[in-house]
Amino acid sequence: MSISSIGVIGAGTMGHGITQAFATSGFEVRMVDVSDDALHRGMKAIEKSLERLVSKDKLSAADRDAAMKRISTATDLSALKACDLVVEAATEKESLKLDIFKQLGGLCREDAILASNTSSISLTRIAAATPNPERVVGMHFFNPVPVMKLVEVVRALQTSDAVVETVEKLARDVGKEPVPVKDSPGFVANRILVPMINEAVFVYADGLAKPEEIDTVMKLGANHPIGPLALADLIGLDVCLEVMKVLHDGLGDPKYRPAPLLAQMVDAGYLGRKTGQGFYDYQ
Ligand code: NAD
Repeated sequence: MSISSIGVIGAGTMGHGITQAFATSGFEVRMVDVSDDALHRGMKAIEKSLERLVSKDKLSAADRDAAMKRISTATDLSALKACDLVVEAATEKESLKLDIFKQLGGLCREDAILASNTSSISLTRIAAATPNPERVVGMHFFNPVPVMKLVEVVRALQTSDAVVETVEKLARDVGKEPVPVKDSPGFVANRILVPMINEAVFVYADGLAKPEEIDTVMKLGANHPIGPLALADLIGLDVCLEVMKVLHDGLGDPKYRPAPLLAQMVDAGYLGRKTGQGFYDYQ
Protein backbone atom coordinates (compact mmCIF):
# COMPACT_ATOMS: atom_id res chain seq x y z
CA MET A 1 0.00 0.00 0.00
CA SER A 2 1.17 3.55 -0.52
CA ILE A 3 1.69 5.79 2.49
CA SER A 4 1.16 9.54 2.39
CA SER A 5 -0.32 10.66 5.71
CA ILE A 6 1.37 9.58 8.92
CA GLY A 7 0.40 9.89 12.57
CA VAL A 8 2.99 9.96 15.37
CA ILE A 9 1.92 9.36 18.97
CA GLY A 10 4.16 11.07 21.54
CA ALA A 11 6.09 14.33 21.09
CA GLY A 12 9.00 13.40 23.38
CA THR A 13 12.61 12.56 22.49
CA MET A 14 11.63 10.01 19.82
CA GLY A 15 8.20 11.26 18.72
CA HIS A 16 9.43 14.68 17.62
CA GLY A 17 12.50 13.15 15.94
CA ILE A 18 10.33 10.69 13.98
CA THR A 19 7.94 13.53 13.05
CA GLN A 20 10.88 15.58 11.76
CA ALA A 21 12.27 12.68 9.69
CA PHE A 22 8.91 12.06 7.96
CA ALA A 23 8.11 15.77 7.45
CA THR A 24 11.49 16.54 5.84
CA SER A 25 10.94 13.55 3.52
CA GLY A 26 7.66 15.00 2.19
CA PHE A 27 5.03 13.23 4.33
CA GLU A 28 2.11 14.96 6.04
CA VAL A 29 2.50 14.24 9.76
CA ARG A 30 0.09 14.64 12.63
CA MET A 31 1.83 14.49 16.02
CA VAL A 32 -0.39 13.63 19.00
CA ASP A 33 0.52 13.87 22.69
CA VAL A 34 -1.64 13.91 25.82
CA SER A 35 0.31 16.95 26.96
CA ASP A 36 0.03 20.37 25.27
CA ASP A 37 3.33 21.23 26.88
CA ALA A 38 5.07 18.21 25.32
CA LEU A 39 3.65 19.17 21.89
CA HIS A 40 4.97 22.70 22.31
CA ARG A 41 8.41 21.46 23.39
CA GLY A 42 8.45 18.90 20.54
CA MET A 43 7.64 21.54 17.91
CA LYS A 44 10.31 23.86 19.34
CA ALA A 45 12.88 21.04 19.21
CA ILE A 46 12.02 20.30 15.55
CA GLU A 47 12.30 24.00 14.69
CA LYS A 48 15.70 24.21 16.39
CA SER A 49 16.97 21.06 14.70
CA LEU A 50 15.86 22.24 11.22
CA GLU A 51 17.41 25.66 11.90
CA ARG A 52 20.73 23.96 12.65
CA LEU A 53 20.52 22.07 9.31
CA VAL A 54 19.83 25.35 7.46
CA SER A 55 22.79 27.07 9.15
CA LYS A 56 25.02 24.16 8.06
CA ASP A 57 23.68 24.40 4.45
CA LYS A 58 22.24 20.88 4.72
CA LEU A 59 18.66 22.12 4.18
CA SER A 60 17.31 25.15 2.32
CA ALA A 61 15.15 27.68 4.16
CA ALA A 62 12.30 26.88 1.72
CA ASP A 63 12.53 23.13 2.51
CA ARG A 64 12.55 23.93 6.25
CA ASP A 65 9.39 26.03 5.88
CA ALA A 66 7.71 23.33 3.75
CA ALA A 67 8.58 20.64 6.35
CA MET A 68 7.18 22.75 9.20
CA LYS A 69 3.94 23.28 7.20
CA ARG A 70 3.48 19.51 6.83
CA ILE A 71 3.30 19.03 10.63
CA SER A 72 0.10 19.47 12.61
CA THR A 73 -0.52 18.64 16.27
CA ALA A 74 -3.42 17.37 18.39
CA THR A 75 -4.07 16.07 21.90
CA ASP A 76 -6.66 13.45 20.92
CA LEU A 77 -6.01 10.13 19.18
CA SER A 78 -9.14 10.66 17.03
CA ALA A 79 -7.01 13.12 14.99
CA LEU A 80 -5.29 10.01 13.51
CA LYS A 81 -8.45 8.48 12.03
CA ALA A 82 -7.50 9.11 8.38
CA CYS A 83 -3.76 8.25 8.59
CA ASP A 84 -2.28 5.52 6.36
CA LEU A 85 0.27 4.69 9.06
CA VAL A 86 0.58 5.50 12.75
CA VAL A 87 3.90 5.24 14.61
CA GLU A 88 3.39 5.09 18.36
CA ALA A 89 6.28 6.61 20.38
CA ALA A 90 4.59 7.18 23.75
CA THR A 91 6.11 6.36 27.15
CA GLU A 92 7.65 2.86 27.46
CA LYS A 93 4.88 1.20 29.56
CA GLU A 94 3.16 -1.93 28.32
CA SER A 95 -0.30 -1.12 29.79
CA LEU A 96 -0.22 2.32 28.14
CA LYS A 97 0.76 0.91 24.73
CA LEU A 98 -1.90 -1.84 24.89
CA ASP A 99 -4.52 0.79 25.65
CA ILE A 100 -3.35 3.03 22.76
CA PHE A 101 -3.40 0.14 20.26
CA LYS A 102 -6.82 -0.99 21.45
CA GLN A 103 -8.08 2.54 20.72
CA LEU A 104 -6.27 2.71 17.34
CA GLY A 105 -7.81 -0.65 16.38
CA GLY A 106 -11.29 0.82 16.71
CA LEU A 107 -10.38 4.18 15.22
CA CYS A 108 -8.14 3.75 12.15
CA ARG A 109 -9.04 2.28 8.74
CA GLU A 110 -8.76 -1.53 8.62
CA ASP A 111 -5.85 -1.31 6.16
CA ALA A 112 -3.91 1.37 8.08
CA ILE A 113 -0.55 0.13 9.38
CA LEU A 114 -0.08 0.44 13.14
CA ALA A 115 3.59 0.61 14.15
CA SER A 116 5.25 0.93 17.53
CA ASN A 117 8.66 2.44 18.25
CA THR A 118 8.88 0.47 21.51
CA SER A 119 12.43 -0.33 22.64
CA SER A 120 11.61 -3.72 24.08
CA ILE A 121 7.91 -4.51 24.66
CA SER A 122 6.39 -7.55 22.92
CA LEU A 123 4.98 -6.56 19.51
CA THR A 124 3.05 -9.82 19.53
CA ARG A 125 1.13 -8.76 22.67
CA ILE A 126 0.64 -5.24 21.26
CA ALA A 127 -0.71 -6.75 17.99
CA ALA A 128 -3.07 -9.01 19.95
CA ALA A 129 -4.71 -5.88 21.43
CA THR A 130 -6.04 -4.94 17.96
CA PRO A 131 -8.74 -6.53 15.78
CA ASN A 132 -6.37 -6.81 12.75
CA PRO A 133 -3.08 -7.92 14.28
CA GLU A 134 -1.45 -8.70 10.90
CA ARG A 135 -1.06 -4.94 10.25
CA VAL A 136 0.87 -4.29 13.48
CA VAL A 137 4.67 -4.02 13.24
CA GLY A 138 7.64 -2.58 15.13
CA MET A 139 9.34 0.41 13.57
CA HIS A 140 12.24 0.94 15.97
CA PHE A 141 14.09 4.18 15.26
CA PHE A 142 17.25 5.22 17.09
CA ASN A 143 18.15 8.39 18.95
CA PRO A 144 18.73 11.05 17.62
CA VAL A 145 16.33 10.07 14.83
CA PRO A 146 17.44 12.62 12.20
CA VAL A 147 21.03 11.32 12.49
CA MET A 148 20.78 7.58 13.17
CA LYS A 149 20.45 5.39 10.08
CA LEU A 150 19.00 2.19 11.57
CA VAL A 151 15.35 1.16 11.76
CA GLU A 152 14.76 -2.28 13.27
CA VAL A 153 11.60 -3.59 11.57
CA VAL A 154 10.16 -5.91 14.20
CA ARG A 155 7.91 -8.70 13.00
CA ALA A 156 5.29 -9.83 15.52
CA LEU A 157 4.11 -13.42 15.22
CA GLN A 158 0.99 -12.07 13.45
CA THR A 159 2.59 -9.44 11.12
CA SER A 160 1.96 -9.96 7.39
CA ASP A 161 4.75 -9.99 4.78
CA ALA A 162 3.06 -7.09 2.94
CA VAL A 163 3.20 -4.90 6.05
CA VAL A 164 6.89 -5.69 6.63
CA GLU A 165 7.67 -4.85 2.98
CA THR A 166 5.74 -1.54 3.10
CA VAL A 167 7.49 -0.44 6.29
CA GLU A 168 10.93 -1.41 4.95
CA LYS A 169 10.29 0.66 1.81
CA LEU A 170 9.07 3.58 3.93
CA ALA A 171 12.23 3.44 6.08
CA ARG A 172 14.34 3.64 2.89
CA ASP A 173 12.20 6.55 1.63
CA VAL A 174 13.20 8.55 4.73
CA GLY A 175 16.88 7.73 4.22
CA LYS A 176 17.13 4.92 6.79
CA GLU A 177 18.45 1.36 6.58
CA PRO A 178 15.77 -1.16 7.68
CA VAL A 179 16.87 -4.43 9.29
CA PRO A 180 14.13 -7.06 9.80
CA VAL A 181 14.20 -8.80 13.19
CA LYS A 182 11.85 -11.17 15.01
CA ASP A 183 9.86 -10.13 18.07
CA SER A 184 11.68 -11.02 21.30
CA PRO A 185 12.40 -8.95 24.46
CA GLY A 186 14.67 -6.02 23.47
CA PHE A 187 14.78 -7.30 19.84
CA VAL A 188 18.43 -7.27 18.67
CA ALA A 189 19.94 -3.82 19.34
CA ASN A 190 18.69 -3.30 22.89
CA ARG A 191 19.29 -6.89 23.98
CA ILE A 192 22.97 -6.18 23.36
CA LEU A 193 23.21 -2.44 24.08
CA VAL A 194 21.16 -1.88 27.26
CA PRO A 195 22.76 -4.72 29.32
CA MET A 196 26.12 -3.06 28.47
CA ILE A 197 24.80 0.28 29.81
CA ASN A 198 23.41 -1.53 32.90
CA GLU A 199 26.84 -3.11 33.50
CA ALA A 200 28.47 0.33 33.26
CA VAL A 201 26.08 1.48 36.04
CA PHE A 202 27.18 -1.51 38.19
CA VAL A 203 30.84 -0.60 37.52
CA TYR A 204 30.16 3.00 38.62
CA ALA A 205 28.15 1.88 41.68
CA ASP A 206 31.04 -0.47 42.65
CA GLY A 207 33.29 2.62 42.72
CA LEU A 208 35.69 1.28 40.09
CA ALA A 209 35.84 4.56 38.14
CA LYS A 210 34.06 7.91 37.63
CA PRO A 211 31.45 8.28 34.84
CA GLU A 212 33.84 10.17 32.55
CA GLU A 213 36.53 7.52 33.12
CA ILE A 214 34.13 4.66 32.35
CA ASP A 215 33.02 6.46 29.19
CA THR A 216 36.61 7.17 28.12
CA VAL A 217 37.50 3.48 28.58
CA MET A 218 34.72 2.41 26.22
CA LYS A 219 35.34 5.21 23.70
CA LEU A 220 39.08 4.60 23.42
CA GLY A 221 39.12 0.89 24.27
CA ALA A 222 36.13 -0.31 22.27
CA ASN A 223 35.99 2.50 19.69
CA HIS A 224 32.45 3.50 20.74
CA PRO A 225 31.53 7.03 19.56
CA ILE A 226 29.91 7.77 22.94
CA GLY A 227 30.45 6.16 26.36
CA PRO A 228 27.72 3.98 27.95
CA LEU A 229 26.81 6.43 30.74
CA ALA A 230 26.61 9.44 28.39
CA LEU A 231 24.47 7.23 26.14
CA ALA A 232 22.19 6.34 29.10
CA ASP A 233 21.70 10.08 29.68
CA LEU A 234 20.86 10.55 26.00
CA ILE A 235 18.40 7.63 25.86
CA GLY A 236 16.77 8.48 29.22
CA LEU A 237 17.44 6.47 32.39
CA ASP A 238 13.74 5.63 32.70
CA VAL A 239 13.76 4.07 29.22
CA CYS A 240 16.94 2.06 30.05
CA LEU A 241 15.34 0.79 33.29
CA GLU A 242 12.13 -0.25 31.53
CA VAL A 243 14.14 -2.13 28.88
CA MET A 244 16.12 -4.00 31.59
CA LYS A 245 12.85 -4.95 33.35
CA VAL A 246 11.43 -6.29 30.06
CA LEU A 247 14.63 -8.32 29.40
CA HIS A 248 14.65 -9.63 32.99
CA ASP A 249 10.96 -10.59 33.02
CA GLY A 250 10.82 -11.80 29.42
CA LEU A 251 14.00 -13.89 29.29
CA GLY A 252 13.99 -14.95 32.96
CA ASP A 253 17.76 -14.80 33.31
CA PRO A 254 19.24 -13.06 36.43
CA LYS A 255 22.04 -11.62 34.27
CA TYR A 256 19.48 -9.01 33.11
CA ARG A 257 18.68 -7.68 36.62
CA PRO A 258 18.51 -3.85 36.58
CA ALA A 259 21.34 -2.12 38.49
CA PRO A 260 19.86 -0.84 41.80
CA LEU A 261 21.53 2.55 41.23
CA LEU A 262 19.74 2.88 37.86
CA ALA A 263 16.37 2.31 39.59
CA GLN A 264 17.30 4.74 42.37
CA MET A 265 18.27 7.49 39.92
CA VAL A 266 14.94 7.05 38.12
CA ASP A 267 13.14 7.30 41.50
CA ALA A 268 15.02 10.57 42.12
CA GLY A 269 13.93 11.97 38.74
CA TYR A 270 17.52 11.98 37.42
CA LEU A 271 16.52 10.78 33.94
CA GLY A 272 19.46 12.22 31.97
CA ARG A 273 19.43 15.02 29.40
CA LYS A 274 15.66 15.39 29.39
CA THR A 275 15.61 16.42 33.07
CA GLY A 276 19.01 18.16 33.07
CA GLN A 277 20.59 15.61 35.45
CA GLY A 278 21.76 12.04 34.98
CA PHE A 279 25.27 10.62 35.23
CA TYR A 280 26.30 14.12 34.06
CA ASP A 281 24.93 17.55 34.91
CA TYR A 282 23.31 19.39 31.94
CA GLN A 283 21.99 22.43 33.79
P1 NAD B 1 9.67 10.54 26.28
O1 NAD B 1 9.45 10.37 27.73
O2 NAD B 1 10.69 11.54 25.82
O3 NAD B 1 8.28 10.92 25.54
C1 NAD B 1 7.10 10.18 25.70
C2 NAD B 1 5.93 11.07 25.34
O4 NAD B 1 4.74 10.26 25.31
C3 NAD B 1 5.68 12.20 26.36
O5 NAD B 1 5.68 13.46 25.70
C4 NAD B 1 4.29 11.86 26.93
O6 NAD B 1 3.52 13.01 27.24
C5 NAD B 1 3.69 11.08 25.77
N1 NAD B 1 2.56 10.22 26.14
C6 NAD B 1 2.38 9.49 27.27
N2 NAD B 1 1.20 8.85 27.21
C7 NAD B 1 0.61 9.17 26.03
C8 NAD B 1 -0.62 8.83 25.40
N3 NAD B 1 -1.50 8.01 25.98
N4 NAD B 1 -0.91 9.37 24.20
C9 NAD B 1 -0.04 10.23 23.60
N5 NAD B 1 1.16 10.58 24.15
C10 NAD B 1 1.47 10.06 25.35
O7 NAD B 1 9.99 9.08 25.71
P2 NAD B 1 10.89 8.69 24.43
O8 NAD B 1 12.30 8.55 24.84
O9 NAD B 1 10.52 9.57 23.29
O10 NAD B 1 10.35 7.20 24.16
C11 NAD B 1 9.17 6.95 23.44
C12 NAD B 1 9.18 5.53 22.93
O11 NAD B 1 10.31 5.35 22.07
C13 NAD B 1 9.31 4.48 24.04
O12 NAD B 1 8.57 3.35 23.68
C14 NAD B 1 10.80 4.18 24.03
O13 NAD B 1 11.09 2.91 24.52
C15 NAD B 1 11.11 4.27 22.55
N6 NAD B 1 12.50 4.54 22.18
C16 NAD B 1 13.25 5.44 22.91
C17 NAD B 1 14.55 5.69 22.51
C18 NAD B 1 15.40 6.70 23.25
O14 NAD B 1 16.61 6.75 23.01
N7 NAD B 1 14.83 7.52 24.11
C19 NAD B 1 15.11 5.04 21.40
C20 NAD B 1 14.31 4.15 20.66
C21 NAD B 1 13.01 3.90 21.08
